[in-house]
Amino acid sequence: MNHQDFDTLAVRAGTQRSQFNEHSEALYLTSSFVFDSAAQAAARFAGEEDGNVYARFSNPTVTMLQDRLAALEGGERCVATASGMAAILSLVMGTMRAGEHVVASNGLFGATQQLFSGILAKFGVETSFVSATDLDAYRAAIKTSTRLFFVETPSNPLTEVVDIAAVAEIAHQAGALLAVDNCFCTPALQRPLELGADVIVHSATKYLDGQGRVLGGALVGTDQVMEDVFKFLRTAGPCISPFNAWVILKGLETLRIRMEAQSNSALELARWLETQAGVARVHYPGLESHPQHALAMRQQRTGGAIVSFDVAGGREQAWRVVDATRMISITANLGDTRTTITHPASTTHGRVSPEARAAAGIGEGLLRIAVGLESVDDIKADLARGLVG
Ligand SMILES: *Cc1c(COP(=O)(O)O)cnc(C)c1O
Repeated sequence: MNHQDFDTLAVRAGTQRSQFNEHSEALYLTSSFVFDSAAQAAARFAGEEDGNVYARFSNPTVTMLQDRLAALEGGERCVATASGMAAILSLVMGTMRAGEHVVASNGLFGATQQLFSGILAKFGVETSFVSATDLDAYRAAIKTSTRLFFVETPSNPLTEVVDIAAVAEIAHQAGALLAVDNCFCTPALQRPLELGADVIVHSATKYLDGQGRVLGGALVGTDQVMEDVFKFLRTAGPCISPFNAWVILKGLETLRIRMEAQSNSALELARWLETQAGVARVHYPGLESHPQHALAMRQQRTGGAIVSFDVAGGREQAWRVVDATRMISITANLGDTRTTITHPASTTHGRVSPEARAAAGIGEGLLRIAVGLESVDDIKADLARGLVG
């Protein structure tokens, strides 16, 4: 899909107008809906007639968000959820059963990893974690009970790039689905369904909202898979608030231009960091020095807006860079118009054992920047304060 088509869908797809013909999409803050008659109520409850019943099942503002995001990802159907984690939970609960197995890439978002290795394991869904970039490791992890492959690309915080098309082929040969967490790139930069993935996972809390206001999540896939997810959601209830859906719906309208501007700044920042004396290594898929640069440029439109780098001097020097900033926000959040900085080893990955962190390449000198929309010169100047001397 080219930019122009994407941009039109981003502002137009899914819009439904009420009897008042409002131009901007309405926010329907209602938990339930009324019927014209007892017969209509019965038909709606039985699913014989389309229409809203109760906001745990559907709400017009939520429907508009789902339809717009499905169009942007190029999928048949989207189901929105309360958060990104609620999306992942709903995917597993809707499509898997006890005794079945997941193959997941290493370097997943911390809570995702804990969900698979801790909580889901208690209910008999077992997960094998494999190196994100080692295709043989994915093949070797397959069991007869494997039903789902789950990857995140680029990974957090090291920006490792998973070969989506290759992993999709491996998953399909095993009779399993491939789910891709597309949080870091969004459909503006990467469309995994076109590469063979079956399900898209989103934390809409990040770039889809893009301004750090609300929590939300979403899954996109075939009607069949999404129906299984929806059955879980409407019964179990991890559904999105209409207010949050409305905020994210409006956020999607500026998604592509935000992602492009933030990616351009990220590339410029990454190139500048590579020239700084105190920086040992920069991790950014848009750099020629990135191990999967060629793959990243094939499957992503840009390198994205997350840049990580190792400073020489370990934790002490890394914290010095963080503490010297005056503008950049010190927070583990990402996907905001404001640039953020975090020290993964003591925050997002603080509960991971030092050995596991070292094995994953997350050193004491590693810093992660989520590049926002401020002037890139101001971002550089803010980082330079702690890097010099
Ligand atoms: C934040 C995040 C999640 C979880 O989303 P929430 O909305 O915080 O529940 C999942 N995956 C990735 C890659 C994330 O960054």
